[in-house]
Amino acid sequence: MLNLILFGTPGSGKGTQSVKIAEKYKLGHISTGDIFRSEIKSKTELGLKVQKIIERGCLVSDEMLIEILDNAMKKFSDVEGFVLDGFPRTIRQAEELDELLGSRNECVSLVLALDVNPDEVLHRLMKRAAQEGRKDDTEEVIKKRLNVYYHQTSPLIEYYQKQGKYKSVHGIGSVEDIFENICNTIQTVR
Ligand code: ADP
Repeated sequence: MLNLILFGTPGSGKGTQSVKIAEKYKLGHISTGDIFRSEIKSKTELGLKVQKIIERGCLVSDEMLIEILDNAMKKFSDVEGFVLDGFPRTIRQAEELDELLGSRNECVSLVLALDVNPDEVLHRLMKRAAQEGRKDDTEEVIKKRLNVYYHQTSPLIEYYQKQGKYKSVHGIGSVEDIFENICNTIQTVR
């Protein structure tokens, strides 16, 4: 099994690349952000619970996340692993992921970080705000999300570096070039 984590700041291109990775390597694609947006759109109990938190740019609680991930994984059959996009985002989530995969006799294979500088990220997110109108893509909320990333999520870099699983890929250029670099990096663990 190939269990990949796609890592990077908001706007680093995780969503775009993880769809392509999932297709090529026959992996189940799990985007926690997409799950939340769909729950909010359908006004489910979960959606109503998390809507305000997400619109403010804060993180949803770790307790909720691990249950969501477990359920999302169970929905896939016949996959050769998973590509996780937007999860884990805290050390606690990473620890719980290790446990969850451990209970399936599996582990994280590789953490692929998309390396994009903060100016480019801000530029991309503002552009997306104009095009898609995501409620958490206003300048104020974007800054909050980047801040949350640096404080709560970036400690994961060290967590995975210590396990020798962290590899970064240059995240600026054409979608195809970045994808090619990602595939070359994946080959090193296959
Ligand atoms: P981004 O574009 O910021 O990478 P996502 O689409 O991955 O955003 O997620 C949107 C929002 O959903 C986050 O700002 C956060 O509120 C919530 N969320 C998504 N994944 C997680 C997670 N693993 N832990 C906590 N909250 C999450």
